[in-house]
Amino acid sequence: MKLFADGGTLITVFFREGITPMANAKIVTFANQKGGVGKSTSVVNIAASLGVLGRRVLVVDVDPQGNTTSGFGISKKTSAGTIYDVLIGRTDAADAIQTTEFENISVLPANISLAGAEFELVMADNRESRLKNALEPVMPDYDYILIDCPPSLGILTINALVAADGLVVPMQCEYYSLEGLSQLMLSVKQIKKRYNPKLQLAGILITMYNGRLNLSTQVMDELKKYYAGKIFNTAISRNVKLSEAPSFGQPVWYYDRFSKGAALYHEVAKELMQKI
Ligand code: ADP
Ligand code: MG
Repeated sequence: MKLFADGGTLITVFFREGITPMANAKIVTFANQKGGVGKSTSVVNIAASLGVLGRRVLVVDVDPQGNTTSGFGISKKTSAGTIYDVLIGRTDAADAIQTTEFENISVLPANISLAGAEFELVMADNRESRLKNALEPVMPDYDYILIDCPPSLGILTINALVAADGLVVPMQCEYYSLEGLSQLMLSVKQIKKRYNPKLQLAGILITMYNGRLNLSTQVMDELKKYYAGKIFNTAISRNVKLSEAPSFGQPVWYYDRFSKGAALYHEVAKELMQKI
């Protein structure tokens, strides 16, 4: 038999060998250079919902603070290796990834050692593409890879944007948020041009929203003017369960499934699946 005479035969061979050609994961980066805007909370809880909805999810923590790592109850003192070891080329991503007790969720953890990477990567080859290259071999194993960023536009966030298909910007409805957003979008434009033409703004996610504040509604109106169609329909309001869940090392879906926070992030996860 002429094995690879045409595409049809190639596909037949794949199936016969039990190897089905698999789609690669979509990579979604959560970034905002401002701290405390709900990046980690959003990554942890959207990932949990995507997992519950049957999607295979890898969460990559690229923040030395490791809030997302501990948000899934993973110890920051892991011996298996962290994203730092992966970025400096000491460990393969597959060896540092940990499975969790949560449905369909694996995590590539971070801890404070990552703080040194910013400095070490300055001299390294392919310093902007290290994360993208490291994730490539594990992409067929997941439907979504969600990346949490530190609160800066340094080399770690750049790596996360170079790897991404889509960017989600969690932000609070405050006056200065708009300025920060324009600055972030300028960086995105440059990264798109130089390194990653497929990078798209998937959406702006309003967090800790209080619709009773005049300022919030004003900022929201302003946002809609410039980013129409890019704002998630679901805004995340303040919910105490969302702030309690991390101290139990659980996404809110597992901490209190019937809370407002769980319902809101579940809706956002569904919207994200539509967008990407
Ligand atoms: P970032 O990752 O952008 O620094 P976090 O996700 O860590 O932000 O959120 C900052 C703080 O706000 C955390 O203490 C978190 O628990 C809390 N928080 C985030 N979103 C909400 C919310 N919707 N309701 C209440 N607390 C929230
Ligand atoms: Mg964070």
